[in-house]
Amino acid sequence: MARISYVNGRFVNHRDAYVHIDDRGYQFADGVYEVMLVQNCVMIDADPHFQRLTHSLAELRIECDVSARSFGLIITELQRRNKVTDYFVYLQITRGVAPRNHQFPTERIKPSIVITLSPFKIDFSKEIIGYQAITGEDIRWKRKDIKSISLLPNILAKQEAIENDAIEIVLIDKESGYITECSASNFFIVDSSNNLRTHPLGHHILGGITRTTLITIARQNDLNVIEEPFKLEDVVEAKEAFITSTTKGLYPITKIDDMVINHGEIGAISRKIRKLYQQYIEEQISNEL
Ligand code: PMP
Repeated sequence: MARISYVNGRFVNHRDAYVHIDDRGYQFADGVYEVMLVQNCVMIDADPHFQRLTHSLAELRIECDVSARSFGLIITELQRRNKVTDYFVYLQITRGVAPRNHQFPTERIKPSIVITLSPFKIDFSKEIIGYQAITGEDIRWKRKDIKSISLLPNILAKQEAIENDAIEIVLIDKESGYITECSASNFFIVDSSNNLRTHPLGHHILGGITRTTLITIARQNDLNVIEEPFKLEDVVEAKEAFITSTTKGLYPITKIDDMVINHGEIGAISRKIRKLYQQYIEEQISNEL
């Protein structure tokens, strides 16, 4: 079956899905994106994803008048045409097409909208494994809260991880020494007193939707979460570490560089939170059905 994607108001065969070479996303990475998980035709955490999209658009002053509800309808139509029930949505909005000039176009242009679906079914029955990460310098710009499609530093960082047989790279801000997050996920540790620790929201990290959900779930289950910056020396002392993202959920990290965490075993708190997250997803699905 041909895969169908959405490009600027049209549902097209994926192989014919193109944008113009003068698109400012192509020319300047002048755009934003979201990645959302849909299971059993239910979008997980839809509202926070669309709120973050609105934030990213507003910060870059990209005027897009398509509402979250309209996006929902387009995604449902894509779902129908692709005959899928479990998938990721990739939604990208750029400032639009205009002759190449750094400044914003003077005349009003329509933002370019691209939406693709990729089949993906979460398999919670699969035994989780501990992953390896490396550390590296966070060389990104100062507005990491914006989910911009300008991802070169993230790409280079992730490539370094992969070339070192690691799943992720834990990014460290050179000036402060604080760990911010990873190339495509947020980073948590469990300290010796069983507190969960992660970098606070702000301009230094992307406010991951999975991060916020897991913090809420953890607190509801009497786990203490401290949103304060910490350093690599705190990771040395940590009992557990894990990363979070929409595409991964929670992945335990059992080794960072040469540092083995919890003797290389997945910790009890990581297991517990992952299980709670599974229940949370299952509840969202059953609430919607
Ligand atoms: N940080 C960065 C830099 C990311 O790219 C991502 C995922 N795109 C995340 C964190 C996790 O965000 P979310 O939980 O919303 O997928």
